[in-house]
Amino acid sequence: MAAIDGLPPLRAVIAAHGLAAKKSLGQNFLLDLNLTARIARVAGDLSACDVLEVGPGPGGLTRGLLAEGARHVLAVEKDARCLPALAEIAAAYPGRLTVVAGDALALDVAAHLTPPVRVVANLPYNVGTELLVRWLTPPDWPPFWQSLTLMFQKEVAERIVARPGSPAYGRLALLAQWRAEAKIALTLPPEAFVPAPKVHSAVVHLTALPAPRYPADPAVLGRITAAAFNQRRKMLRSSLKGVAPGIEDLLRAAGIEPTARAETVSLEAFCALARAVKAQAG
Ligand code: SAM
Repeated sequence: MAAIDGLPPLRAVIAAHGLAAKKSLGQNFLLDLNLTARIARVAGDLSACDVLEVGPGPGGLTRGLLAEGARHVLAVEKDARCLPALAEIAAAYPGRLTVVAGDALALDVAAHLTPPVRVVANLPYNVGTELLVRWLTPPDWPPFWQSLTLMFQKEVAERIVARPGSPAYGRLALLAQWRAEAKIALTLPPEAFVPAPKVHSAVVHLTALPAPRYPADPAVLGRITAAAFNQRRKMLRSSLKGVAPGIEDLLRAAGIEPTARAETVSLEAFCALARAVKAQAG
């Protein structure tokens, strides 16, 4: 039976194009078009947006995005075996889908997108984390994207939205929450994918803030949080010793107890510390 968009069901697409999932490309496909439409809706109203989709694979999520009304989808796929299936989707939605063959980590496609841009992806988890960090650390803010709707391993999703005091709280939470609003929108069991991964997954939705939540120099903040969380069990006066001379006074100036551990310190306090360190360095 044809699906709502007149295209064959995804199982038939996969069989017709011989798209057996490749572990080396982190392929776990979503085959339920109701679910992919739900994920597309997490990204918000797409009718006035260009959507960057990374890793469309056989196109389940792509079809969800187009069926939900995305103005235009630019899809970047590394596996050339998927291109004929994606061409069929492009033909069913004339002028609304552009497919770029290549590695999303090596290509810079932002220039081919017309704002406003929303990013949606179900990617291999390692690629997803690397792209998330890049998208959160552009040379200028605000970035090219308005929102990011990304599938992660549930444990990584929890690290992105974690609050102080939680074992999941660390550099990823600080990076994400400094310049974006981050929430877990959906959690999915392994059986939602073919083949089923070993772990649960979650869709994280991040909305770019117009400016960072608290002022801080990104490089200084990055240096401090790296040192603080690389030795997260240590007191900050010791883990941050190498960051700046007189770190105990700087910590106190930022309202942080020098004996505190990184895990308990808020984003606001880390930003205050970054400003104090920068001011001292002149
Ligand atoms: N979006 C599809 C879905 O939800 O069914 C496929 C998801 S599968 C987890 C990840 C997809 O990303 C695969 O199609 C894989 O070939 C592609 N991929 C992996 N690494 C990539 C990269 N560096 N650049 C672009 N695509 C990549």
